[in-house]
Formats: sequence, C-alpha cells, structure tokens
Amino acid sequence: MPRVNLRISGPTPLPPEVRAALSTDMVSHRSEAFRAIVREVLPGLGAVFGDPATVLPFTCSGTGGLEAAVVNTLRPGQRVVVVSIGYFGGRLADIARTAGLDVVLVEVPWGRAADPQDLAAALRRTPDVAAVLMTHNETSTGVLNPLPELCAVVREHSDALVVADVVSSVGATPVLMREWGVDVAVGVSQKALMSPPGLALLGVSARALAVAAANPVRRGYFDFTAMAAAVEEGTTTYTPAIPVFYALRVALRMIEDEGWDRVLARHRRLAERCRDGIVDLGLEPAAERAYASPTVTSLSLPGELRASEVRERLAEEHHVLVASGRAKWKESVLRVGHLGHVGDEDVEGVLAALGAVLRDGGARHGG
Ligand code: PLP
Repeated sequence: MPRVNLRISGPTPLPPEVRAALSTDMVSHRSEAFRAIVREVLPGLGAVFGDPATVLPFTCSGTGGLEAAVVNTLRPGQRVVVVSIGYFGGRLADIARTAGLDVVLVEVPWGRAADPQDLAAALRRTPDVAAVLMTHNETSTGVLNPLPELCAVVREHSDALVVADVVSSVGATPVLMREWGVDVAVGVSQKALMSPPGLALLGVSARALAVAAANPVRRGYFDFTAMAAAVEEGTTTYTPAIPVFYALRVALRMIEDEGWDRVLARHRRLAERCRDGIVDLGLEPAAERAYASPTVTSLSLPGELRASEVRERLAEEHHVLVASGRAKWKESVLRVGHLGHVGDEDVEGVLAALGAVLRDGGARHGG
C-alpha cells in the first residue's frame, strides 16, 4: 500500500517512535509503572498548556472534554457568552445550551477572527456573565483567534471564567493559560500532540477547580474534583486509555528534544508555505491573513469545482488526504492540516498533488 499523506486536521500521523510505544503491553493503571508515566506526562503537558494548576486527562474525545469543562464550572440557568467564529464555536454553544445555560452568542462571519472590541461590547451590555467560552483555533475555517487579547477583555469587563477550546492549537502554538488568564483549556491527544485519539486533556486553573468543587451539579464520570484527587495520586478516576499515555510520553519527549521554540517555528513556517503555495496555484485562502491558523489552512475552490470531487481525486490519484469544509463550507472549501508530525515534504506533497488535479480540470473525469 502506498503511504497516505494524512493531511486532515486530526487525527494526525504518528511518528515511528510513538507507533513503537503503542506496541507496549498493558500495565495496571493502579501500578507504580503507570504512576511513573502519569508523573512524567502530566507535568510535561502542564508546560505545553502554559502552567495551569493541573491537567486532567479524561478518556474521551475533545467534545467530551468540552462538556466536562462546562458541567464542572457552570450550573443550569447561569449566563455565558460564547464567541463563535465557525463550526466548532457553534458546537461550544450547543454544549452550553444542552447543559441548561443561558447562551449569549457573539457570532463572527466564517473566515474571520473575533474582534476583542465586539466581545467587550457584549460584556458591557450583558450582566452576570459566569463564563466566556471561545475557540482558540477554529479548525473549520483555519483561523486563530487572538486569545490573549480576548482574555484581557474578559478580565477588564467581568470576573467571568474563561473556557477555551484549544483542541487544534495546543502543542503547535503558544497556549499560556496562567499568563492570559484561561481557567479551563480543552485539548486532545490526537492532533498537535502526535498521539492517537483517546484522551481529552484539560488544563484547569486553581479558580476553576475551586468553582467545580463548590458546584452542586452532579457530574459523575466527568467530575473535576475526583479526577484532580486521582491525578495527585498518579492515576485516574477510572480505567484510562493507557496506550495513549504511552504515546504521549514519547511524543512529549520528542517535542522536548526538538525544542519548543523550534516546534512552534516549524508550524508557523509550514502554515505560511501552505498558504503561499495555495495562492501560487491561483486559489483563494478562506481565512483572513492576519489570523491564519498555524495548524490548518483553508482554501476556497472556484465555483465550478466541488470539494468532495477534488478531495476524492487527491486521495485516489495522489494518496493525499485533506479535509473538506464543514457545514455551509462543505463543498466550497478544502482544509489542509499541518500539525503535529509534519515536515516540508508533507506540505509540498499536498501542493504538488493539488496543482496536478487542478491542471487536469479538478473535477472527476466523466462525472
Ligand atoms: N473543537 C475543535 C476546534 C476541533 O477541531 C474538534 C475536532 O476536530 C473538536 C472540538 C471536537 O473534537 P473531537 O472530534 O475529538 O470530539
């Protein structure tokens, strides 16, 4: 089988070292061997998340992690502001509504970043905001929100908690929880952290832990207080995705070996190369340049081309797998993931394949 150049926004390809770690046999999650892994992996993640009070690993996908963030820190009937710049911002709003919250939506046209002044205006006209929920990197549009500025606005106008979805940013771009004032940052194992799906990783501030401890809402599986106590003991509340811990241990060592600054610089460089290459092919980037994501590049296709057809041709003829747009961008936009275990050759491979398909008309033959 030819190697597939997996350039979706996640799950991302695994480095050979991580794949090797995944062949390790199971240990008891109550053993010293597992405690040693937890005591290496969670502090390592703490550095990547910008020094939160703790990192809580829940065995679930990112959406589960977002739900955990909401049900621990908020109670039904409380008011939250959700800043939505795309599909995953919409999901945050849905999770908040499902939890019985009063959602005030600050909606931004797709392809653009949130303007901190719009958030400031919303906070000025909305009393009693318990939390502001926002997406750091909007994977559906390829836009990186100015999270530090947005957090500063929250601090200036309210004492609301900040809950940030860092699913497709953490590990590839700075997330400075303590410095920026983020209370819960929800990441995952399967994107920039070069590991398989299986763990939602939540950076949690001391303030959010205290709010969760005092929250009368029953949480069951997702309880922060119980998980924080387990993590203190070097384990997890229930049986965790042990292989993902094996993977993360190796992946974090690889990040440290490469050097954090180099990891960040590599993501920035590849994002710029991808965007420039797309422009050179005569295509239109779908995200505003100043806030272009370092992990996902989105492009608008000419009206006569359908994303599903171009995507299929890239896969079948060139073994390059990119993502199509989400929801209203489904057939008009393609998205290229360049996060985690990714190098120049991967991005060049996408651009070469895309160029070949476009030169050949883009659409499927006979279709
Ligand atoms: N938030 C963002 C920004 C995402 O990119 C994704 C998935 O791609 C999610 C949330 C949902 O994560 P999951 O599919 O792991 O539940």
